[in-house]
Amino acid sequence: MKPQINKVKAAAVIAALLMSGCDFSDTNEPYSAEYIAMDTLVSSTIYGENAESVSEAVKNEVLHLEDLFSVTDEKSDIYSLNNAGGEAVEVDPETFKLLQFSLEMCEKTEGALDITLYPVVREWGFTTGDYKIPDDEALSALLKNVDYRRVSLENNNTVTIPEAARLDLGAVAKGYAGDRVIEIMKEHNITSGLISLGGNIQALGGKPDGTDWRVGVQNPFSYGYVCTLNIRDKAVVTSGNYERYFEEDGRRYWHIIDPSDGKPARSGIVSATIISDSGAYSDALSTAVFVMGKEKALQLQERLGNFEMILVMENKEVYYSEGAKEMIADR
Ligand code: FAD
Ligand code: MG
Repeated sequence: MKPQINKVKAAAVIAALLMSGCDFSDTNEPYSAEYIAMDTLVSSTIYGENAESVSEAVKNEVLHLEDLFSVTDEKSDIYSLNNAGGEAVEVDPETFKLLQFSLEMCEKTEGALDITLYPVVREWGFTTGDYKIPDDEALSALLKNVDYRRVSLENNNTVTIPEAARLDLGAVAKGYAGDRVIEIMKEHNITSGLISLGGNIQALGGKPDGTDWRVGVQNPFSYGYVCTLNIRDKAVVTSGNYERYFEEDGRRYWHIIDPSDGKPARSGIVSATIISDSGAYSDALSTAVFVMGKEKALQLQERLGNFEMILVMENKEVYYSEGAKEMIADR
């Protein structure tokens, strides 16, 4: 078996940031920072007199959220919940808020997103790098404990999950972190900033020269972009099958799993990019849309109406929603 974690995503994101950070005619220099958090490269570019101290506040918040949401850190809220033996656990308000939001999204996506899928993701080895293809029996046994509807939230601070259930906020946490970063920038009177957490890019305002930020949507088949987008005050989040995967006998197995059978979702989509006002919303939807496939995604968009999407299909066709078409700067 050939373990393979593709790192091109980080490179593409840097390129996107460089592209968005260039071409400033005024003397207003940005403050840029880069670090690893949530197992991904985080890059921020912030404009304003206090940009350096805001950048520090942003980093502290991202690291704080990582401490709360990590599945493996024994001090995290998620670890406590996963090891509570079915007892109620009092969690940080941020954990409660994200769990509440995530459960709403599990419901809205009719279970294509399911934050209790962790035991299945772990069985495939995506959390450890010790990849294997589980047999159907093992998957059905694990799927018996997968059901977001059994997570119960009370009193704005207390969470209970069944003894055998395990939570994982990997599909939504980076998006939520993006939303918190934008809030922190606003609290410090920043009007122009950009954050990238792995494939999640979120913009506050436009560039200081009044133009839009420009971000690239990575081509899942090769280096480069499917298109670049003009954005302001938006979160652009991509879920793809080209970042975390392994190959066996020429077949690729990736980390986005269909909760209906516990296997890598083969919906025909190889990358789903969602553009909306919120990072958490875009993140939840990018994972769910990848799982549900194009037809259901179109129905979901019709029903919810508050996001745009770009879907790259395995036959290399690219679908742009109407609003996404209007954002295209170049393709
Ligand atoms: P997304 O599409 O946004 O999410 C996919 C991830 O969500 C999968 O990796 C899986 O964990 C989960 N998932 C898969 N299918 C579904 C589904 N249908 N419904 C709901 N969830 C699903 N990775 C490490 O290797 N080591 C670490 O120490 C580590 N620490 C982390 C700490 C935090 C706080 C977070 C948020 C992530 C961490 N990660 C770590 C990364 C994590 O395991 C995921 O790989 C990552 O969040 C996937 O993000 P994505 O944007 O690639 O894909
Ligand atoms: Mg996601």
